[in-house]
Amino acid sequence: MKRIGVLTSGGDAPGMNAALRAVVRKAIYHDIEVMGVYNGYQGLIDGKIERLDLGYVGDIIQRGGTKLHSARCLEFITEEGQQKAIAQMKKHGIEGLVVIGGDGSYRGAMALTSKGLPSIGVPGTIDNDIPGTDYTIGFDTALNTVIEAIDKIRDTATSHERTFIIEVMGRGAGDLALWAGLAGGAETILIPEVSFDIQDILKRLRSGHDRGKKHSIIIVAEGVMSANEFANLLKEQGNIETRISVLGHIQRGGSPSARDRVLASLFGAKAVEALMEGHGGLAIGMRNHQVVEYSMTEAFNGKHYADLSMYKLSKELAI
Ligand code: ADP
Repeated sequence: MKRIGVLTSGGDAPGMNAALRAVVRKAIYHDIEVMGVYNGYQGLIDGKIERLDLGYVGDIIQRGGTKLHSARCLEFITEEGQQKAIAQMKKHGIEGLVVIGGDGSYRGAMALTSKGLPSIGVPGTIDNDIPGTDYTIGFDTALNTVIEAIDKIRDTATSHERTFIIEVMGRGAGDLALWAGLAGGAETILIPEVSFDIQDILKRLRSGHDRGKKHSIIIVAEGVMSANEFANLLKEQGNIETRISVLGHIQRGGSPSARDRVLASLFGAKAVEALMEGHGGLAIGMRNHQVVEYSMTEAFNGKHYADLSMYKLSKELAI
């Protein structure tokens, strides 16, 4: 393989730049040219493609966002869109592609692979929701952002003896809420993987209050309901006043944590190795502290499981 392409797609995540750097440097180290594609699959269709040199990825390992920009592109889901993308790849001499993104982006990469252009997926999403890998790039950074917010909210919650509901991202997965809730010492965590009993939550809030707790922190994953909806539920069912905080897009930004930079470097390099070995249709991941490659189909057809033992523990520790 003499020339590969790289793009970032779907929702951005801190550490995508570090992954991009690893792809570019690893490839060039092995005398492979790298073409950067802007705006995800849209840039592939539009031919927004340029050659990247070693300097292009200098000074980005610590930066959030993605220097190649990201986009959601409906046209690429169509046969016509994919043919346009393939034509551009041929025009630019791209023989293989590294796609840094979520499982939606993997589907696009699989489509290209099945049309003869080997593509490898690198998991970049703060949601940690890609089946087959224990961690995704960006999760750790987002988690630390949420923890910082919880700690700050806890200060004001204590001062005013308030119950706070904090809404965190995660799409259909509860990982971010679960890890943040455990690390932030939340009294209650709501995740999509476990149904909740409002009477049980009210009972726990009241008994905490009765034994002198000065505040309560409730973490709600966006996949369950909005913080606002849950606040209304507590008001209706238990006449409990709350304050809400929706963390929103701050969770997607910021300088990647050391852990995400390391993960991104390992994954990016592994993706290039996979292409060099002639593979396509593989996803890169981490299982039991080992970097692995596995079928991309498993990544978008499989199921992601949040660690429910952590959920149980968080309840035990929040008595
Ligand atoms: P993420 O990669 O973060 O899960 P999306 O689900 O929005 O984000 O997917 C990103 C992009 O991947 C989409 O905008 C589209 O261009 C491409 N994509 C998603 N699903 C498919 C599909 N079934 N076939 C081809 N391309 C797809």
